[in-house]
Amino acid sequence: MMLGKEHHHRKEFKCPWCKHVMDWSIGAGNDTQTKPQAGDVTICIECAKPGIWLGSAELRRPTYEEAQTLLQREDIIFLMLAIKTMHEIEKSKCK
Ligand SMILES: [Zn+2]
Repeated sequence: MMLGKEHHHRKEFKCPWCKHVMDWSIGAGNDTQTKPQAGDVTICIECAKPGIWLGSAELRRPTYEEAQTLLQREDIIFLMLAIKTMHEIEKSKCK
């Protein structure tokens, strides 16, 4: 793995809510590692909140109206619940 000097192929991005650093090559449900397009939605694997892609490797928080639309999508709700549930299970395992 190469570190640094890869500004054009940066795969890391930060959650706009909790600042958790993620990699877009994971969790997309495929291994093509396609760069997300502006307007695409990503669910944070840490806090389970949705972020909207800007043109670059950056996420912003959805507006109130966007959030209302997102929360009508079953795939989004499913992901949010799945992430929350897995975190709870992991937490209870550590005790
Ligand atoms: Zn987050």
